[in-house]
Amino acid sequence: MKKSRKLLIAGNWKMNKLRADTEAFFDEFVPKLSALPHKDTIDVLFSCPLPLIATAQTKSKNTVTIASQNYHWEPKGAFTGEVSIPMLVDFGVNTSVVGHSERRQYFNESNETMRKKLLAAQNAKFKVIACVGETLEQRKSNQTTQVIDEQLKAIISGIKESSSQSLEHVVIAYEPVWAIGTGLSATTEQAVEVHKHIRSVWATAFGPGEAQKLRVLYGGSVTPDNATALLSQEDIDGALIGGASLKPDDFFKICQIAAS
Ligand code: PEP
Repeated sequence: MKKSRKLLIAGNWKMNKLRADTEAFFDEFVPKLSALPHKDTIDVLFSCPLPLIATAQTKSKNTVTIASQNYHWEPKGAFTGEVSIPMLVDFGVNTSVVGHSERRQYFNESNETMRKKLLAAQNAKFKVIACVGETLEQRKSNQTTQVIDEQLKAIISGIKESSSQSLEHVVIAYEPVWAIGTGLSATTEQAVEVHKHIRSVWATAFGPGEAQKLRVLYGGSVTPDNATALLSQEDIDGALIGGASLKPDDFFKICQIAAS
């Protein structure tokens, strides 16, 4: 797929799989990906639960990026149950998903925690896939743009507060909450409208050049069946994929579409 920006196909395993499943997944997936024509035209990433990271790193043999699903904004301290960026880096992890709607919904993460986490990531030159997206109620009451703007404002504030701004370390994922794990994907028109808006907010904050470089992923019930329609849109620079990333064949088919 000829695009302005390199497509990123990112799997989010959430709280699924054990080590044996991880081994079996990569035993099937890696040979397929390695044989994929034009595989260098796409980036592939898996956001794994922490106990699976070492197995995923070993079994994926450097063919993909292994990322985490979350991190704390402080480098260390009395935060039982949390993990810091230096700990992840020490483990060979340089990327994380941040602000996923499940973190917002079940663990009270807010735009304020998002700001702190972006600041910490920028200070550490740590890469993030920062998630934004509206609920069904918010969409129905025409609040989509407002909600996305507030979420982006927190992300942008975190970046601007850092003395070592590195925009190349930030990817945005637009994930309408109503489309995550529901089988109900946004239409290409709905996704493109929001993606264009995100790029325009980025242009206002950082200039049109940076906005042209920003990768904006779509997430929400992406499957091999709807991937072509979504990924062929100029403003959609990849996908963040939950359910379909758990099956090597489905996820590979999406990589195949992206690299075609
Ligand atoms: C996700 O986990 O970010 C996601 C988009 O899940 P799903 O693809 O299952 O909707």
